[in-house]
Amino acid sequence: MSISVKNLSKHYDQQKAVDSISFEAHPGRILGFLGPNGAGKSTTMRMLTGYLMPTSGNAEVSNQNIISQPIEAKKHIGYLPENTPLYTEMYVKEFLRFVGETYKLNNIANRVNEVIKLVGLTPEQHKKIGMLSKGYRQRVGLAQAIIHNPDVLILDEPTSGLDPNQLVDIRALIKELGKNKTVIISTHIMQEVEAICDDIIIINKGKIVANDSLKGIKKAYHQDSLEEIFRKLTA
Ligand code: ADP
Repeated sequence: MSISVKNLSKHYDQQKAVDSISFEAHPGRILGFLGPNGAGKSTTMRMLTGYLMPTSGNAEVSNQNIISQPIEAKKHIGYLPENTPLYTEMYVKEFLRFVGETYKLNNIANRVNEVIKLVGLTPEQHKKIGMLSKGYRQRVGLAQAIIHNPDVLILDEPTSGLDPNQLVDIRALIKELGKNKTVIISTHIMQEVEAICDDIIIINKGKIVANDSLKGIKKAYHQDSLEEIFRKLTA
């Protein structure tokens, strides 16, 4: 298994932003991480990717412990943070080369060209990041997340703010990447979950309130509308 989370918590003073959650995510499957605003999704993702120290609990990514082997764990993870912070003054290729260098990749120029093709950035590859549309910036974010060919992808609202065409393209790309990686994606869009996710976790006020396959959760609640199930569990 690629991600194994055990009793992971993050407390801010009295608030339990993430409250002892445990779950697993598996290769070749896309896990939708759902919850209302403030439920603890980004906090969980930031802990898994080593940007935030848990208050307690632990997790393994590709058998590397995120607390005792953070550098090894990071090598296995591609992360697209919410509101992808990118260096807007850098050129697309310059930025991707820079990210490749931080991973000490061999043959960086080739790999940069490969990921540019893979995420559909070819027409915009010579531009500055600041000049790109939101959809193309998101592709740069995805390109930097996959450049080191990680086996785990953690994508925090990867389609927020995209127009309908861009949305379809990025979803297709995530679905393709999910064929041989473990993917966790947070989103508010139930259609998106229906379109690309195999498994679902619903988190509310820092706690997991559902953990099932997309089919399984509908069966368990005798309900075909994920939206209805979501409302019921997070009301
Ligand atoms: P989500 O991604 O599900 O919208 P977050 O993980 O961003 O939720 O936030 C979970 C809760 O933790 C929220 O109530 C948020 O206000 C709180 N929180 C997040 N970061 C901090 C912080 N640095 N200091 C205090 N509270 C925080």
